[in-house]
Amino acid sequence: MSQIQDPTPSFPSRLPTVGTTVFTVMSALAAKHQAINLGQGFPDFPCDPKLIAKVNEAMLANHNQYPPMIGIADLRNGIAHKISKLYSHQYDPESEITITAGGTQGILTAILCCVSPADEVIIIEPAYDSYRPSIELAGGKVIAVSLQTIRDENDQVSSYEIPWDTLAKAINPKTRLIMINTPHNPTGMVWQSADLERLAQLVKNTSALILSDEVYEHMVYDGAEHHSVAAHPELAARSFLISSFGKTYHVTGWKVGYVAAPSRLTKEFRKVHQFNVFTVNTPMQYGFASYLQDESHYLNLPKFYQAKRDFFRAGLASTQLKLLPTPGTYFQCVDYSKLNIPQAKLNESNFCQWLTTEIGVAAIPVSAFYEESTESSVIRFCFAKQAQTLSNALERLHNL
Ligand code: GLN
Repeated sequence: MSQIQDPTPSFPSRLPTVGTTVFTVMSALAAKHQAINLGQGFPDFPCDPKLIAKVNEAMLANHNQYPPMIGIADLRNGIAHKISKLYSHQYDPESEITITAGGTQGILTAILCCVSPADEVIIIEPAYDSYRPSIELAGGKVIAVSLQTIRDENDQVSSYEIPWDTLAKAINPKTRLIMINTPHNPTGMVWQSADLERLAQLVKNTSALILSDEVYEHMVYDGAEHHSVAAHPELAARSFLISSFGKTYHVTGWKVGYVAAPSRLTKEFRKVHQFNVFTVNTPMQYGFASYLQDESHYLNLPKFYQAKRDFFRAGLASTQLKLLPTPGTYFQCVDYSKLNIPQAKLNESNFCQWLTTEIGVAAIPVSAFYEESTESSVIRFCFAKQAQTLSNALERLHNL
């Protein structure tokens, strides 16, 4: 019998090793098994109705056509004001701030505008899963260095440290870009100002640019501060600063963020941005521009999320899961290697699948943030959830 020919021509994949992102896969698995979804990072509670009202008002006021390519002036002005207040750096809203369709688009566009084939881009693993494919699409070469995993006396993971020596060795004249992320997804690690200073020393006299993903900037706990590249003049002069409204305002599905960068970088960024998304939806921009004027929301965010973190950690403390520190983000990592069940031997991905289908709680394997399989029996939970959701999840996790 003759084979039916596939009429679609074949072509070489631009991303041959990439499948569907782990967040989508785990959310689908959670839905299928009616598991409590602590996997993909998004809140399960509503945003402030006032923010929705402002977006509605903008729609009714007929702000429904293309906004300016770089974003509406009121929003860019508001962002410049906020950054200057928090991080003492004045970006020019006209030539240095661009509104993007979320952080992920900002990251891809920044990479596409500066990375040429054969350029090297340093990422620090575990790294958010969009970084590597974005670099590969630009033709860049990914140079991955790993956070140092610190282990306790039981050989369980206790924290992570920036691998300064490896990072220093990885930088060379081909290094176009170094990507950092603070507060860090998935580990929750937060860079200190001394870390930024150390990075500044490393890149001094090099032509390396920095991309700093700071989308969790308002989730730093225990009275500590977020240290932005914007606050470090030497770094700010060579950095794309990426942030997002989705995380801060509980609206991850609106996909609005921004990129702040010196005008020479922004000029190149916008060349790509205009043909990448052209503009970002207008009414949401008006909504944020107005809502941003009230600083109380983001100033209260550390307290709001710290209460959730502490509630979740207190509940987990009576399980055999080992809690890793969470100085920032809305993610809690745990080491499951000492659970007294056979599944403690599973790799992270299989453990997460088992946890989702059999225990009814979805989580993300930290190995998904590494290219080469790196197993350390650590998984990530998202605690951006209502108290009831967290209690229900804890009840199930107590069955472990
Ligand atoms: N940033 C979110 C996370 O780490 C997920 C975003 C996405 O699903 N692409 O969970």
